Amino acid sequence: MTELRTQDLETWFSGPTESPLLIAGPCSVESPEQVLRTAEELKQNAPLSLLRGGVWKPRTKPGSFEGIGTEALQWLIDAGKAIGTPVTTEVANAQHVEEALKAGIDVLWIGARTTVNPFYVQEIADALHGVDVPVFVKNPIHAEVGLWAGAIERFRAVGVKHVAAVHRGFFSTAKHIYRNEPQWQLSFELRALLPDTKIVVDPSHIAGDRKLVPDICQVAMDMGMDGLMVETHWNPEIALSDAAQQVTPANLGAIVRDLKVNTTLPVAESNPELDALRKEIDALDDTLVGVLRDRFALVREIADIKEKEGLSVFRKDRWMKLVRERMEQGDESMTPEFMHELFSIIHKYSVNYQTTLVKKDK
Ligand code: PEP
Ligand code: MN
Repeated sequence: MTELRTQDLETWFSGPTESPLLIAGPCSVESPEQVLRTAEELKQNAPLSLLRGGVWKPRTKPGSFEGIGTEALQWLIDAGKAIGTPVTTEVANAQHVEEALKAGIDVLWIGARTTVNPFYVQEIADALHGVDVPVFVKNPIHAEVGLWAGAIERFRAVGVKHVAAVHRGFFSTAKHIYRNEPQWQLSFELRALLPDTKIVVDPSHIAGDRKLVPDICQVAMDMGMDGLMVETHWNPEIALSDAAQQVTPANLGAIVRDLKVNTTLPVAESNPELDALRKEIDALDDTLVGVLRDRFALVREIADIKEKEGLSVFRKDRWMKLVRERMEQGDESMTPEFMHELFSIIHKYSVNYQTTLVKKDK
């Protein structure tokens, strides 16, 4: 792969990714002027290959801006024509598909709130039967790779030739710096299930904050992802949706210019200081595993007692106390969020283990 350059979609879809694809444009199409100005500035600043813009906006919170609707399709198409770039919008039902295709939208995308529901996905797929329009499928809101792969397969099954995935992160109750937790391993799982599917990363919805967007773009490149979809507005401050995470076209130009694409890291760097530190880390990890093993041995003893006395395995008060006390020990490096997540996992698997022990004996 080389640096990002403007490219033909058909070529990108049809062969190995030679240059990551850049999709950019506003979260929502707000007015003809807003989308045109954003498109023109994008054209000047970044190697854009596909102009995005939401027309029907699935919002989690009722009362937020839900998009202009059908009328805005033409504004998006006009902006794309003005800069000579194909356009894409989100569709969430068969009627959206019909209207988008009638208007002449080049590429469709399926939002995270749609991918979660196979009924919706199938309805959209059926509406695309025999239609040759590329589709990008965002990962579902929650971390279930089967739904993501299933949606991609549903589009392929009706004959859509070009289907790609978009990694936009996953909802999590744990407090994070990200709006949606990246959980990068799920992209690798998708790759394992559908090896020929290209994956584009949406740093905007992962981040929820424009400051984090550049780093996520770089991580995506380091992982060999096939492209980026970045929400871009000529003036993010006044955006009607997702204002905090949009970048200006000039910002995007700078982000893309700074990206290191396909910097093949040396397989084994030989740095004695690093090697020594890694050895120390490995030794500490060994100790950590030993401590956890001892902990599980105690968990087993507790399970025996609980069973004898007929006590339930999960004790809410115990869980609250355990997690709260550990969070209080948090500091700058081991943040309270980290402690919360770590001890929640340890406790969860302890409870699972106790449950299997109690069940086995019955
Ligand atoms: C969007 O791209 O504007 C959008 C709504 O994204 P997601 O479906 O990933 O939340
Ligand atoms: Mn958005």
